Amino acid sequence: MTAGRDPAPAGVRTVLVLGGTGEARELARRAVSRARVVSSLAGRVASPRLPEGEVRVGGFGGVAGLVAYLRAERVDAVVDATHPFADRITANALAAVAQTGVPFLVLRRPGWTERAGDRWTWVDSIAEAARVVGDRRAFVTSGRDGLGAFASGVARTVDPPAEATALDLVLDRGPYTVDGELALMRRHAVEVLVTKDSGGGMTAAKLDAARALGLPVVVVRRPPAPAAPTVTTVDAALAWLTTGGGAG
Ligand code: NAP
Repeated sequence: MTAGRDPAPAGVRTVLVLGGTGEARELARRAVSRARVVSSLAGRVASPRLPEGEVRVGGFGGVAGLVAYLRAERVDAVVDATHPFADRITANALAAVAQTGVPFLVLRRPGWTERAGDRWTWVDSIAEAARVVGDRRAFVTSGRDGLGAFASGVARTVDPPAEATALDLVLDRGPYTVDGELALMRRHAVEVLVTKDSGGGMTAAKLDAARALGLPVVVVRRPPAPAAPTVTTVDAALAWLTTGGGAG
């Protein structure tokens, strides 16, 4: 080895994981032995599940704030493992890495696909979902926002919604079982399920339960996928980090 050369391996030294998902936590857990991992959470959830490694909480202050953070912390790779519907932080991250040249990867689980026996209607927003539901009793699982537009049924959220709602509330964060979902849907006499196309296994039991009960599902489409290198598994994200964030 040449004297004075950096003896660090080719991989990334400091990685910023934009988090708030199970995949982000798994990536942090598995990457923490090989790099400095800083996970970033928005701070929306009162008591979030914390990833391993360093954690920072709260917005960066737009693109300029994120650019300043990347420079101050000498971040040499960013993995955007945020929820597929968190499109503002993803847009900000794209702009910030364009300005700084920091290697950038999106880790995004695939969306759900309809199976035999499913009765899905695709919509573009929660408001449109509420219009499609009409006065039917809905099981609304699309998060805290927009619940005021639904007439009756039950909403499940992690924290209570800020706005008034006619829906019964169940506070829970999963993961869920099909039996549990069946019981909830029966208990609340649910006629239609409302979900975002979040994808993944942690919240998919509701789709199996709806199929078993022959219930229709209103699915909110994802925002457009970001124009950036994208992987769908934590394994692939780890491989990318090992090669120096695409630079090696
Ligand atoms: P968003 O609309 O894309 O972002 C709004 C603002 O929140 C961003 O401009 C940024 O503020 C801040 N922010 C968002 N995610 C952040 C993060 N990981 N670290 C630091 N700041 C963050 O986000 P959202 O849809 O409200 O989602 C917020 C968080 O909840 C994300 O971490 C996401 O992974 C998680 N989550 C979202 C959903 C969903 O359905 N949207 C579901 C499950 C989990 P600044 O501009 O000040 O930096």
